[in-house]
Amino acid sequence: MAAVQHTEAYLGFDFSTQQDGGGRPCGCRRPDGDIARSNVGQGSGPPIGADAGSGLRLLQGASVVRQCNTAAYTGKREQRRPSSSSTTSAASAISSKTVSQCTTLPCGWTQAADCSVSAWRMQQGVLSSWQTSRAPEPMSVSQEVRLPKCATNDRESSKIPRGSHWSAALRRRSSSAGSGMNLLDIRSKKWNEALLEAVCPGLDVLLGKPMPSASVLGAVSSYWVRRFGFSDTCAVVAFTGDNPASLAGMRLQQGDLAVSLGTSDTVFVWLQHARPALEGHVFINPVDWRHFMGLLCFKNGSLTRERLRNRCADSSWERFSTALRQTPLGNNGYIGLYFDVMEITPRAVGVHLFDAEDNKVSSVSAEAEVRALVEGQFLSRRLHAERLGYSIIPGSRILATGGASCNKEILQVLCDVFNAPVYTMDVSNSACLGSAYRALHGVLDQSDVSFFDVTKEAPEARLATTPQLHAHQVYNEMLQRYGRLEKKVLQELRS
Ligand code: ADP
Repeated sequence: MAAVQHTEAYLGFDFSTQQDGGGRPCGCRRPDGDIARSNVGQGSGPPIGADAGSGLRLLQGASVVRQCNTAAYTGKREQRRPSSSSTTSAASAISSKTVSQCTTLPCGWTQAADCSVSAWRMQQGVLSSWQTSRAPEPMSVSQEVRLPKCATNDRESSKIPRGSHWSAALRRRSSSAGSGMNLLDIRSKKWNEALLEAVCPGLDVLLGKPMPSASVLGAVSSYWVRRFGFSDTCAVVAFTGDNPASLAGMRLQQGDLAVSLGTSDTVFVWLQHARPALEGHVFINPVDWRHFMGLLCFKNGSLTRERLRNRCADSSWERFSTALRQTPLGNNGYIGLYFDVMEITPRAVGVHLFDAEDNKVSSVSAEAEVRALVEGQFLSRRLHAERLGYSIIPGSRILATGGASCNKEILQVLCDVFNAPVYTMDVSNSACLGSAYRALHGVLDQSDVSFFDVTKEAPEARLATTPQLHAHQVYNEMLQRYGRLEKKVLQELRS
């Protein structure tokens, strides 16, 4: 972020896909006690809390924005201040300066609910062929359509931001953020006319043309200069979402995959070729718009690991790790699919344990059950990442973050299943950091410098472990088997 100050560029990101730990959409408490949600058309689409996913929980800085960015009040003006929780590291400390300047922005939103409901329905029907995902409501257009009434003299304020894209109200979004809306054709990088027509005829005029992520849109508006003391030469780089900003913050490269092992597990992948599926979400890549980024959320992450730790390892991570050390790669054929709560990827529930002959079994030894869980979880992460178009290539790295990334034995299984070295890094504020990197890249991009050249001085991730001998063979076969068993489980659940 020092770079941002130096170059006087400013870049923000929105948190509109961020949800709280219970899988609920973010909301902010109104003075009268009601939760004002960012989603329009509540009650019209499927219930959100049930399956919309628990979102990313990588970012401490997020909490500040979450309180502010979902202000969906009609015609009301709010003054909000960030909480102090955003200032926990260097990156967030600096970005929170930016955030705190922005969060006092008086801003009112007018909802366009009629448009959004029909568009949400339509998205469910047409998405899979060309677009980015099944579009759980937080990523659907239903939260996008709000007409900002921000106090500014900037003509860009007449553009429509995402519902929670509060500061982007003053300027245009990048194509990467646009692909989070499920209105953008990620291949042509143009708004899809049929969907725009269904949402609101003429919406494209209000949305503006999607821009490459590194585009400099001009100088900051005079409103920001007057209200917050920005320099009037401060450049504005196209906005993006928190998830794409995180990819930039982790400096993911082609062939890399990042997995956050938190309460839920989240997988980010750099995709050279996108294969949009109903599961997961494909964005235009925020640091190279010729490529893509995949995002997958898994609800049954650390909480399921904790449940088995308590049951099979005397509530001790140490014993849980010992069980992993004492059991062989491939677990003598035992394989487990653990969905304590309705999973997002795939939509399945229940515990399904199989022996080497694919027969369902109700119990195995405690040690084998621990390995069945961890291997099953990472096989699932790999299976669904590959379905989105990810493939391991020479030089691929797995970046592990989140609470369970301190556990070496869990990382070893991750490493073996992907047959790629695992690195760890502190990404507690990766979206803020990524925004700063992108701002710097944006102002330097005019001279064709790559994102990675711009960020080459940034701290490197630390190597945690490398694959064991034969892991490749064991898990390639097991992945096929896992795919077949998952299909079988889904069929059984449907019938
Ligand atoms: P959040 O999603 O809340 O940000 P964190 O990334 O902080 O979550 O991860 C918290 C989780 O990390 C806990 O639920 C816990 O199960 C897990 N965890 C903490 N220590 C270990 C460990 N030594 N081994 C495995 N998992 C761990």
